[in-house]
Amino acid sequence: MQYYINAHGKLSPIQYSLDYSDTKSDMSMSLEKVLIYPVTDEYTALLSCLTDSLEIIDKQTLQLLINEPAKMNKETHNYYSVKFPGNSKEAELRFSEKENYHKDILAQKKDSCVSFIICPTYGCNMKCVYCYQHPYVERANDKISMEKLSVIFNYMEKEISRLETLYGKRAVTLELFGGEPLQEHLLDTVGIILEHARKKNYLIIITTNGLQLELYLPLIEKYRDTIARVYTNLDGIQPVHDQRRKSNDRTSDSGFLRIVKNINEMRKFYIPITVATNLDKNNIAFLGSYFDYVNHQGWLNNDLITIELGRVDDRFYSGFYNNCMSEAELLHRLVDYNREHPFPKNVKLAFLKTTEFISRVFGFNFNQDERGRGQYHYCWATTPLDDVYYIDNNLDIYRCTYSVGNKDFKLGNVNVGCLSSAFSNHGFFQNKECASCSIGKYCSGGCYISSQTSWDRHCTEEKANFDYFMKRIVVPEIRSKLHKLFN
Ligand code: SF4
Ligand code: SF4
Repeated sequence: MQYYINAHGKLSPIQYSLDYSDTKSDMSMSLEKVLIYPVTDEYTALLSCLTDSLEIIDKQTLQLLINEPAKMNKETHNYYSVKFPGNSKEAELRFSEKENYHKDILAQKKDSCVSFIICPTYGCNMKCVYCYQHPYVERANDKISMEKLSVIFNYMEKEISRLETLYGKRAVTLELFGGEPLQEHLLDTVGIILEHARKKNYLIIITTNGLQLELYLPLIEKYRDTIARVYTNLDGIQPVHDQRRKSNDRTSDSGFLRIVKNINEMRKFYIPITVATNLDKNNIAFLGSYFDYVNHQGWLNNDLITIELGRVDDRFYSGFYNNCMSEAELLHRLVDYNREHPFPKNVKLAFLKTTEFISRVFGFNFNQDERGRGQYHYCWATTPLDDVYYIDNNLDIYRCTYSVGNKDFKLGNVNVGCLSSAFSNHGFFQNKECASCSIGKYCSGGCYISSQTSWDRHCTEEKANFDYFMKRIVVPEIRSKLHKLFN
């Protein structure tokens, strides 16, 4: 008996004659881009990214598939021709996929967002050991002027109406990012931004390290109806967090305790809060004690709090921080952790990229659901669904969180417009090499920044990452499903 993994991760028997007897028998078949992983002595898993098929095939059938496909019976041959199409069928599939993709994007566009993310300063009151902005951003604690803010507000108006004529009316978010936007000297600036958002009916989203949040609680209370979410961060229990996310003020007490206190104060306003943890080799071992701590705070299984697990990475390959784990290594640790201690329902992953599609099939995505990303794009920043503008103190425009402040990746300037579509033009359909890659639709060209920094390195690392994911996470899962079936 042969099996396949269905869309819900179930091992399902194949019924060739029922499903595929009607398909044409002249279809060609190719295993050239199919990934093959031994599962048991008897069974092998074959993954086709092109058709999203994960087939579990016994020894005898595998021999026929590889060496003598012509000797297969007609139904079996037809079935695997659909799953592992040859070159002519592959080209046809890619063409129809591209058509559907464009239609899908247009259809989803009306439910997407227009986001303006203002960085009022690149200065910060913390010095986190892995901060990706350190190598390229001048951390002077200057702040954006009121004149520049009104230039940004005017630019926003123009962009919103330009986009409205193209895609209709959509939700607008006005967000705060940095550097750190919630510092004492920025109180008036932030107040003006919040007031503008309320007047214009934009939703506010704030990303803050939480260290001086107590100064902003009156503003947050005042604008609570306008604030859609506040993102803040704890990297583990107190000593772990304080060692990684250091306050600039050496005389200050523990940043960790201040942030926890601030989060609990903010909870009184019933605003959705995300508490993110950036994981790497240095803090992953403390995840259990961190969950115990946040449970004690009443944050687990709490509808207004999301406990987000992210990954520390080095997209520019700057080499300034050496404790990063690959996407698949981190996922592996979390899947194992979840087996022993199932995650509370408000835990959400925020780092899956190339492994996201297959992880979702098996339920390893733990609430990660990047709207509109799906296949064909590696990340939110390269997906053309949302229209996103990070704008800094120089009025420069950027697209992805990581690139903010790095002039090599700036897309334009408020005074001249957003000129480059470099990020949204990076994906599966745009990169020839990716179109013929065996993980093309899942990786889709990878991180744009890394691809520009070193194509070879990022491509090699993505392939190795996916291989690890299949061998260390997916194959053991299939093996366990087979074991259950036969025992
Ligand atoms: S970047 Fe490399 S691994 Fe990723 S899809 Fe393109 S060719 Fe494949
Ligand atoms: S391009 Fe995408 S993956 Fe790369 S740093 Fe930006 S958001 Fe992250």
